[in-house]
Amino acid sequence: MNLAHHLLRAARSDASAPALLKGLTEVADYGRLAATVASLAASLRQRLGLAQGDRVALLMKNVPDYVACLYACWHAGLVAVPINAKLHPREVAFILDNSSAGLVFVTEDMAGVASEALALATVKPLVIEIGSADHRALEKADGIGIADVAIADPAWIFYTSGTTGRPKGAVLSHRNLLAMSLNYLAEINPIVPGEALLHAAPMSHGSGLYMVPHVLGMGAQIIPESGRFEPDEILELTKKRDGISFFAAPTMVRRLTVAAEAAGATAPGLKTIIYGGGPMYVADCKAALGVFGPKLAQIYGQGETPMTITYLPKRMHAETGHPRYEERLASVGIAQGVVQVRTVDETGRDVAPGEIGEIIVRGDTVMSGYWRNPDATATTLRDGWLYTGDMGAFDADGFLTLKDRSKDVIISGGTNIYPREVEEALLRHEAVAEVSVIGRPHPEWGEEVVAVVVPVAGRAVTRDDLDQICSAWIARFKRPKHYYAASELPKNSYGKIVKTELRTLLAESSVRLAPMA
Ligand code: AMP
Repeated sequence: MNLAHHLLRAARSDASAPALLKGLTEVADYGRLAATVASLAASLRQRLGLAQGDRVALLMKNVPDYVACLYACWHAGLVAVPINAKLHPREVAFILDNSSAGLVFVTEDMAGVASEALALATVKPLVIEIGSADHRALEKADGIGIADVAIADPAWIFYTSGTTGRPKGAVLSHRNLLAMSLNYLAEINPIVPGEALLHAAPMSHGSGLYMVPHVLGMGAQIIPESGRFEPDEILELTKKRDGISFFAAPTMVRRLTVAAEAAGATAPGLKTIIYGGGPMYVADCKAALGVFGPKLAQIYGQGETPMTITYLPKRMHAETGHPRYEERLASVGIAQGVVQVRTVDETGRDVAPGEIGEIIVRGDTVMSGYWRNPDATATTLRDGWLYTGDMGAFDADGFLTLKDRSKDVIISGGTNIYPREVEEALLRHEAVAEVSVIGRPHPEWGEEVVAVVVPVAGRAVTRDDLDQICSAWIARFKRPKHYYAASELPKNSYGKIVKTELRTLLAESSVRLAPMA
């Protein structure tokens, strides 16, 4: 089973159904999209010489061509490697090398990042710029049939920032994405042909994953004219077209609510906002419900079990009279039907309702492992269970509440930032003796990155110096928003930095921590 069959099925059964729109303008119907995909797939295999199972990277912002590139990979039996467009060229280079990509599709605005990354990478993939004459020529070949792949074969390598400072590629098979999609259509957001998924969030992540159920359900994909999340543009679109759903990080929901309130907009054409990827404040959730009505569904998932661990359905957002309504809004909901979810202690035994344990998951959405990383795979997948690194507690009704993240990850604007990566970048500065990076609650972003730095004795270091070293090594969005100088960091008896204490110090803005000039 190959996911590309969904596209072909849609094209055969209703070729003129809208498949792809830029804003309100139709770019392709299903017949045209499927033909483009078959031609592009032919070129990838025959003209560019890629072999079944080869990796193709997508270093692309949100553009309509994303859909054809992704489906052409699958049609041709290739493995897609969508890359977060906000990453640093060094991080992109690592992903290209780790996946040994044979080809990279690049949007024009990413050409600079691509050439810097390629200069650093060991692999030398072919580069096709989207919209170039070369690219369009590839779409003119005679189409080929869909490659015969096993359902367990890789379809998408989803790179997550690693706790070790190196991205790890969660290998997602056709089966994983099919299971995610069927669960989405059954429980989270059943759709009918003609309805649309709006790509307001990056297509390299959740939004792109949800392309799959929307092709399966024969809906359309809308790429905003701006190519990104612009609240006013979304409000305009949902005034003019019905049946629009989209995936959003909690920060986006909040910004959309504020924009709608300011404009007096109600987004009548909005069907569902599926939010997740980071914690949503109950007050923000209620504000959004107040403006848009009960059109919110929450999902909790991670790259290793894409979009699929638990969910809080739309109907439960509407049950305002339920005695535990508030608690339920503060939770991540109940297990999605396609997976089994448990909370366990260090010995792997279930903890009782109300007690906190590590969240572990088993089912058809769970990755087969990390690409070329057996050590990380062995620690994360044990006895058929995915150890998520998230801590949480079930209540007696089966609602899961996230408590903490054992991996110390910072979630800012719905994007994961691993402190270790930032700390490693800062430690490259010769005047930095020690550093600890933590997330501090932020009303708009959820959390912001803050670094506490101990300078080498007798050396001065400024925030500009530290910004510069970060710019050289890590993506811009991971850079600390604030730096504090300290003479020492709180440590436990093993010499390990106690981040909880550091958080308290920061919250109390203790005199021991001075903001850096
Ligand atoms: P990623 O692999 O980049 O998709 O990040 C997944 C992580 O984001 C999870 O392991 C959680 O820590 C966090 N996360 C995902 N969904 C939610 C949610 N609904 N509420 C709170 N945190 C979430």
